[in-house]
Amino acid sequence: MKRRGLDEVTREVAVAVKPMCVFTTHTPVPAGHDQFPLSMLRRVLTDYGDAYNQRAVEFCLDNVLNMTYLALDNSHYVNGVAKKHGEISRQMFGQYKVDSITNGVHAGTWISPQIRAVIDRHIAAWREDNASLRYALGIPRHELWAAHRAAKQDLVAWVNQRTGASLFSNAFTIGFARRATPYKRADLLFHDLQRLLALHRSAGPIQVVYGGKAHPRDGSGKDLIRQIFAQIAKLKGQLTVAYVEDYDIAAARRMVAGVDLWLNTPQPPLEASGTSGMKAAMNGVPQLSVLDGWWIEGCIENVTGWAIGDGNTGNGGGIDERAFDAESLYNKLETVILPMFYRDQDRYIDVMRHAIALNGSFFNTERMVDQYVRKAYFR
Ligand SMILES: *Cc1c(COP(=O)(O)O)cnc(C)c1O
Repeated sequence: MKRRGLDEVTREVAVAVKPMCVFTTHTPVPAGHDQFPLSMLRRVLTDYGDAYNQRAVEFCLDNVLNMTYLALDNSHYVNGVAKKHGEISRQMFGQYKVDSITNGVHAGTWISPQIRAVIDRHIAAWREDNASLRYALGIPRHELWAAHRAAKQDLVAWVNQRTGASLFSNAFTIGFARRATPYKRADLLFHDLQRLLALHRSAGPIQVVYGGKAHPRDGSGKDLIRQIFAQIAKLKGQLTVAYVEDYDIAAARRMVAGVDLWLNTPQPPLEASGTSGMKAAMNGVPQLSVLDGWWIEGCIENVTGWAIGDGNTGNGGGIDERAFDAESLYNKLETVILPMFYRDQDRYIDVMRHAIALNGSFFNTERMVDQYVRKAYFR
């Protein structure tokens, strides 16, 4: 505007800006789509002079500024953060073209020192070329297992010291950590405590490490944490569950590398992508998850991990979805995952290698940024 000597936001100005803007929508959850009343908008825009204030109303619908629609209207490229999320976003914003670029996580940051040492020995230049993590299939089983054991011992010692729990390094360890908010259903594992205890006794001992904070204004997220603490108390003496307070990136790095299984239980279709399972995969930690977000793309049953349910829930299927998903979770643990971990270790390590080779090589920021460059920034 300055260059052209304009002091008003004209239609032409908006049209000129659009080719320079890319919008990534991040979640179907309403709290992720900010809305502000026109009166607040006017107050804020006062500092920027009349140019915007005069036309503020044009960016509003019914005197409300919806940030998502503002971005949709003024961007030449819009994407969701996984294939499924692209689909859901197209349903939500029918009149806009929405592509998808699946999220990724930074390999150099998230692969633990223990696993990194093994990968360094067997795969050249994987940091500069994450796709070469595909060669993880050639890492000798015993080397990967030893590195995983070391990461696990590190986690167990750290959690025990921090929480006073008494986790063992030999027991099958499940990790669950992410923001505590209802759609992530952190308490699904505790849906039926008797069922959980029965499989713990019959199929092989399990222990669980939890982590996650609620947004300060998410009351139901905080309730969820209270719920989990109540369940932990009920299980005391029978099944060890540790809750790591103050979940942050440092805690996440230990957890995603040190557990034997990463668990995710979102309510479909609300998990736009999910990323912690990608962090685990890079460390050779397979995931057990509801088929939602990135896991629809990443799950090859018995090869990279396991699915909870059949991918058909989340559409109001008329069944008790929670009970259905919980039963599927228990069943998968009892009949597939625990028997493999305790009695067919080579096969379990094969799944670990495939998690790195198939998912670590793809669900990383290198591939993701490359797709943004080709599909969004320079197309
Ligand atoms: C990765 C990460 C998250 C996000 O986890 P999701 O699985 O995407 O929900 C949240 N908090 C921390 C500290 C993380 O490292």
